[in-house]
Order: sequence, then C-alpha cells, then structure tokens
Amino acid sequence: MKDFLESKAGRQLAQVAAVAMLLLVGCIAYDDLLMRLVQSVSAGKANLIIIVLIVAGLASFAYSVLRILDMRDEMMHRRKAFDAADHIATHDHLTKLPNRYAFDRFVLHPDEKLQDADEDIGPQTATVFSIDLDGFKKVNDLLGHQGGDILLKEVSRRICALAEYECVFRFGGDEFVAVARNLSPEKEELFAQLLIHSVSRPVRIGTLLTEVGASVGYARLPDHGSSLEEVCHRSDVALYEAKSRGHNQYSLFQPEMQEKVSERAKLEGDLRRAIDEGRIEPFYQPLINLRTGELCGFEALARWNKDGVFVSPQHFIAVAEETGLITTLFEQLLSKACRDAQLWPVTLSLSFNVSPVQMEDRLLASRVLHILQQTGLPSSRLEIEITENALVDDPDLAAATIEQFHAAGIQVALDDFGTGYSSLAQLARFKFDKIKIDKSFVSSFTHNEKNAKIIDAVLGLSRSLNLKTTVEGIEENAQLAYFMGQGCDIGQGYIFGKAMPQAEVVGFVEDRKRALSA
Ligand code: C2E
Ligand code: CA
Ligand code: CA
Repeated sequence: MKDFLESKAGRQLAQVAAVAMLLLVGCIAYDDLLMRLVQSVSAGKANLIIIVLIVAGLASFAYSVLRILDMRDEMMHRRKAFDAADHIATHDHLTKLPNRYAFDRFVLHPDEKLQDADEDIGPQTATVFSIDLDGFKKVNDLLGHQGGDILLKEVSRRICALAEYECVFRFGGDEFVAVARNLSPEKEELFAQLLIHSVSRPVRIGTLLTEVGASVGYARLPDHGSSLEEVCHRSDVALYEAKSRGHNQYSLFQPEMQEKVSERAKLEGDLRRAIDEGRIEPFYQPLINLRTGELCGFEALARWNKDGVFVSPQHFIAVAEETGLITTLFEQLLSKACRDAQLWPVTLSLSFNVSPVQMEDRLLASRVLHILQQTGLPSSRLEIEITENALVDDPDLAAATIEQFHAAGIQVALDDFGTGYSSLAQLARFKFDKIKIDKSFVSSFTHNEKNAKIIDAVLGLSRSLNLKTTVEGIEENAQLAYFMGQGCDIGQGYIFGKAMPQAEVVGFVEDRKRALSA
C-alpha cells in the first residue's frame, strides 16, 4: 500500500481524490446553485448522493485518462529501451554492422530486405559471400589493436559500398558476410573479384600505408541449399577452399568441397587425439658426411601410424599448422627426439624441422631452449631446419629468431633450397650454417640441364659464403658420385637409409661403423 501511494499512480490517485474532495465541498457549499442547475435539467430534487456520484464519476474518468496517458509514455520508453538493447545485441560496436545474431534473424525473414516489390525479377536467388581477411593478424601485431580497428572499419566501409544496405554483416574478428540478390553467375564472380580488389587496396593508418588481402567463398540460394542459413554454411566451406589456395582467392561452392571439409574435420579430430595420446613419434633418417663416409647425424621426421597406415607428414603437419596444434606437436616430438639423441654417440647431431607457421611464434627460440634444458641435450648437437617460405611472412621476426638460435649455439639450416620464394639477397641477410638442396633437383639433374646448372650455382655460392651443403634425396650411385665429386658436404637419401624408429638407430650406427672399417 505504501509503495502504491509513493508511485506515480498513487500520487495521481491522491491528487484526483483531493480535487474530487474539493469539488464535493464546493458542491455542498454552493448546493443552491447546483440544485438549480440539476433541477433545470431533471426537474427532480437534487440530493447529496447524486452529487457524490457525479463527482466520483468525473474523478474516475480523469484518473483513467491520466493512467492511459501514463501507460502510453511507459510503453514508449520500454520500446525505446528494448530497441536500444536489441541494436546493441545485434550490431557490432566497432563497425556498426549487423552481427551474426542479426544474420540469424535475417535468415528467418530475408524477404523484408531481399525482395523488391516494384520489380518483376522472376525467380529469386540470393548469394551469400563469406569474406575473410588475409594477413589481418600481422597488421594487429604490428600496429596494435587500435590500428587493427581502423583497418576493420575501413574494410567494412568498402564492403558496404559494394553491397546492399543492411545486407553486410560482421561475424566477428576479420570475418564478414554479404548477401546479394538475383546476381547471374558472371556477376557473382565479378562481385567476388570486386570485393577482393576493394578490400586489398592499401589502407592509411596514421602515417603508415598498410594492406591486407581477402579470401571470398560464395554459395547461392536455392542451388546450394534450401535456406539462407544452409547457404551461408556452404559459402563458408567455399571460403575454406579459397583460403587453402593462398591469398586473395575466391571460390564458388561445389559439393565435393563439403566432403573435403568433412574429411578434414575428421582428420583434425584424429590428429588431436593422436597428439594427446602421444602416438605421433619421430623417426630418424641418417645424414652422411660425403667426404669421410661417416654417419654425422639424423634428421627427425614425424611419423603417425594411423590404424596401421602411415599418414604423410606433409598432410598432417599442414593440419597441425592450420589448427594451432603444431606447437604442442613440435614440443612433444622435439622432447622425444632430444631424449633419443642422448642415447646416440655424442658426435651425432639431431636435425629438426620447424614449420613456417612456427616462425611467427615469438617464443619459438625460448621453447627450444627450454626443451634442451629439460632433456640435457647440448645445443651444439641440435640443428634447426627452416624452409625458405618461413622467412617471407615476417622477415624481421625470422631474423631475430635465427639470431637467438645462433646465440644459444644451435645450428640453422635452410631447408628445401630452391623450391620456395627465397632469393640470394635473403641468403645474405639471414645467418645460416647450412643449405639443404631440395630432392626435386637431385632426382632430375641428370636429365635436366637447367637443374644441373642450378645445383652447380648453389654449390659455388655456398662455398663462397662459407656455408655447408646437404643434398637430400640421393637414391642412386650416379647421384652420389656426382655430389661427392662436386665437394658437397653431407648426403641424405634412401641410398643410405630411410627414416627409422629409435629402436633401429643403435643397430644402424653399429652397422655403419662396421661397414666403414671394412
Ligand atoms: P623434408 O624436411 O624435406 O624431409 C625430407 C623428406 O624427404 C622426408 O619426407 C624424407 O622421408 C624424404 N626423403 C629422404 N630421402 C629421400 C629419397 O632418397 N627419396 C625420396 N623420394 N624421398 C626422400 P617425409 O618424411 O615424408 O617428410 C616430408 C616433409 O614433411 C618434410 O620434408 C618436412 O617438410 C615435413 N616434416 C616431416 N616431419 C616434420 C616435423 O617433425 N616437423 C615439421 N615442421 N615438418 C616435418
Ligand atoms: Ca628437413
Ligand atoms: Ca628438405
């Protein structure tokens, strides 16, 4: 009761009651006047009850009107508050674009935004474009989150300039979705190209010009799904395909892509379990000193025996890189390999591969040092193999990491030389101890004059830069004789031995010693 009296409605009731009392008192005081008035209308004898009823009726009416006005105001306030909360929940605060929740709602009522009643456009189609930025993380790392925010705002502005109002969504991070209607297949392709072109133009952030790329996947309603939600899922699958082809690529959904994605999802799950259960292990391939014929070390190569079949490391390392599992896998394998190497003769080195994605990890060198410390393997026995592509994305960071390895006494080799993007300038910039000539040159040099010349040039270059050379993939005696004749330092290949489990290493070491002394 107290609450009611203190509320607006209570106060209004009190005010109306007070006015009614005043009216009543007034009516009684001036009843002559009122009686005359009533008599003139009804000719009956006015009495107090009638007066009270009239006043009470009037007061109730006034009170009801006030309450209705009040309720209308309250409903308007509530509506506004609800709309504001709804806007916050369904829009991205940075770019002001509708978000994933808004898309879910849009999916339920697409007609409101996609249909145009004025046009006779025949059968309706809607194409969902999934857009993902390439290299956004690097901008964020280099320019900080503020720089990243400016870039995202500019990118969303550019996408909105191409697509229809209210049909562009930010799904979070650097993922955007645009929905367009009634595009012909040619126009869809053109739209995808325009998106890439527009997003990848340089963006000014403060005094710096920076750029990102864009990958685009797209799918069409009703050809690729019966609802926008389904089509959006398919365009995501197509985006995944586009991303796998490199930067600034676009791709239209094809049913086979779905199978590929499902297979990959399964492989990812299996890989995660295999890593958790420590079922991926290092095998060791011998490295031979070509001058003396002595065994000088082993290269660790990851092996995953999946239900009796070995999965190619090229396949699962790529999945580990994409899913971020690579760091755990690397640490697991390197620890095991360092422990195994402790059981080999101390003259033997351990070569270990680092994947390009890992070179983006600022803590890479400290992770390696931590493992050396834990396992007790001297740093001088470890050699890290880095491929050329690992130097391209962030050359400064790569140079710093290589420097950290050197400072710790770890050797660094440039792997797969000649297959990636490196140039002679890079060779001079990064401090390598060794170059590994890729096996693709070795297998073809006898019948490919150009490759033979490249090999000669690389060997000459390494000599002048004082770098050692390893040749991988030696399978035949002719190849071995050639590289020995060229003064190459180390050989690796099936001719000496394939990668083997630790259990076979000790036997191999003994056999090699025996063969050499014989
Ligand atoms: P890679 O580092 O160039 O390793 C050499 C590859 O050549 C190995 O393939 C090896 O088995 C193969 N090979 C060696 N000698 C011969 C030969 O005489 N003939 C032929 N045809 N092949 C030979 P594998 O083990 O399949 O590894 C493939 C690639 O997977 C490696 O190439 C490396 O890039 C990657 N990889 C393997 N293990 C790891 C790992 O632990 N970490 C990382 N990041 N990558 C790894
Ligand atoms: Ca290697
Ligand atoms: Ca190699």
